[in-house]
Amino acid sequence: MIVTEKKPLSEILSSIEGYDKIFIIGCADCAALAQTGGTPEMEELAIRLRRAGKDVVGSLLSEGPCHSLRVKQEMRGAAQELADAEAVIVLSCGSGIQAVADIFPGLVVPGLNSLFLGNVMRYGWFEERCSTCGECILADTAGICPVTRCAKSLVNGPCGGSQDGMCEVGGGRPCVWAEIYERIKKQKRQLVLDKYQPMKDFERSIKPGSVDLRREDQDARSEKLLTIISDREEKYAHSEFGQRNWQIKLEDVKTIGLTELQRALESGQWVQTAEIVPPKGVDITKVLEHARSIRDYVIAVNVNENPASVMRLNSLSLSHLFQRDGIEPIFHITTRERNRLALQSELLGAHVLGIRNVLVLTGDHQSMGDHREAKPVYDLDSVQLLRLCTEMMGGKDYNGHDLEGAPTFYLGAVVNPGSDLFDLQIMKMRKKVQAGAKYFFTQAVYDLKLFEKFMNAISDLDVKIMAGLIPLKSAKMARYMNQNIPGITVPDQLIDRMEKAEDRIAESVAICREIIEGCRGLCHGVHVMPIGWYSIVPKIFDRLRE
Ligand code: SF4
Ligand code: SF4
Repeated sequence: MIVTEKKPLSEILSSIEGYDKIFIIGCADCAALAQTGGTPEMEELAIRLRRAGKDVVGSLLSEGPCHSLRVKQEMRGAAQELADAEAVIVLSCGSGIQAVADIFPGLVVPGLNSLFLGNVMRYGWFEERCSTCGECILADTAGICPVTRCAKSLVNGPCGGSQDGMCEVGGGRPCVWAEIYERIKKQKRQLVLDKYQPMKDFERSIKPGSVDLRREDQDARSEKLLTIISDREEKYAHSEFGQRNWQIKLEDVKTIGLTELQRALESGQWVQTAEIVPPKGVDITKVLEHARSIRDYVIAVNVNENPASVMRLNSLSLSHLFQRDGIEPIFHITTRERNRLALQSELLGAHVLGIRNVLVLTGDHQSMGDHREAKPVYDLDSVQLLRLCTEMMGGKDYNGHDLEGAPTFYLGAVVNPGSDLFDLQIMKMRKKVQAGAKYFFTQAVYDLKLFEKFMNAISDLDVKIMAGLIPLKSAKMARYMNQNIPGITVPDQLIDRMEKAEDRIAESVAICREIIEGCRGLCHGVHVMPIGWYSIVPKIFDRLRE
């Protein structure tokens, strides 16, 4: 059913300003069930309109106004009252409102907002279960839809943001991947999760959708779909990591010694990097100063892309400026705010600007940042974007068209070893490696035992791991992270040390250095996320360059 909500009366009144004779049409189907457009709601609206000085000349409870033919007939039965009316208010979903607008020549006004396609869980309780994506994958996800029920529509596994089985977006929503995993385990079908879910074909859902069974029946549509699928499979056939690969193999796009970061990691050198957050504005003076202050201590600098979904200068521009300044950037590209067209274009731009280290992420959900109202894009997930990067390095665009010059990148990704969905993190990490990721940055590590468990679980993967490190500013900060940042566990003993420290900066540096020492035998380098505290980076790291 289509779930709707009532518009505020003031909005309805402003839409009918100057129109006095009003007719109301309700919906006996979905809107009645949603308690927004049945008889009681029509009567209530009539009373409120009369109180506001309007003349309600009649009303009609349609069996379902989205049925254009039926509502036309029903409106014929109320022809006299409708002839009297200056405006019609429709209490139904947008489809019903438009059906009425096709018939009534005057002003037609929505009384409701259409929200989603929902299931009736109990009387008066509705949950969104399908966003009509046109390519149903429920067979691979234990009958639970990640396209709709994951806030980022991730189809190849979870992000690193779930906490205690709940979604990072909050609102009491469970992480759908936790639910999928539980059900798939019970079905003993875990292997199905290893399957790569390809990018969706949105050409099939160009708006407005239309099905005309006078021209082709449902069986004919199904046969046509089979042809589309087999054509696609043939076109993208043969690949070592899934369907869509244009015969490009990872070894064909292997890069050697592309960047300082790659040279260092692949030669077995211990690697140090740090991240810089771009400014929220165009004043780059400070950020350049910060980057210059740490350049001698790191191989490369990570340049975040709208971290925590807060709008800032883009990563590509700042990466380019660092590159010009002799500071090697690691360009972050997120799938959150761009579709495949924009992503490919930006990647080509990165290459021509000389940027080669590319870190692929989904990004924090936009509802966590300062533009909560932004339209979520999530056309691709991080696994799919890594594959797309690999395909571009093989000289093809998303659709297999030849590129005039293929870009080259040293591709990286992220992983959260402390995630409560540990098995799924590893599963998704494997997909990322198959898609072309050569190195990973982890969420902040404080518990070396947990980190060792993670490193053991991925010991068969030929990738480089950079352990994340967030310097502790205080015991309060450590407690805050334990409670609020998924995958971070600061042990009590470290919190205690920060609490009792006379010199908190010295203690924080000492803790970071101990963690770095502990990581040395386990992984390939560390990556500091100073969260604005750039002056601590030289204190933590040994100088790399004189
Ligand atoms: S995958 Fe999800 S959104 Fe797509 S058709 Fe199936 S249930 Fe609907
Ligand atoms: S925590 Fe991440 S993977 Fe899980 S539902 Fe939320 S956005 Fe999706």
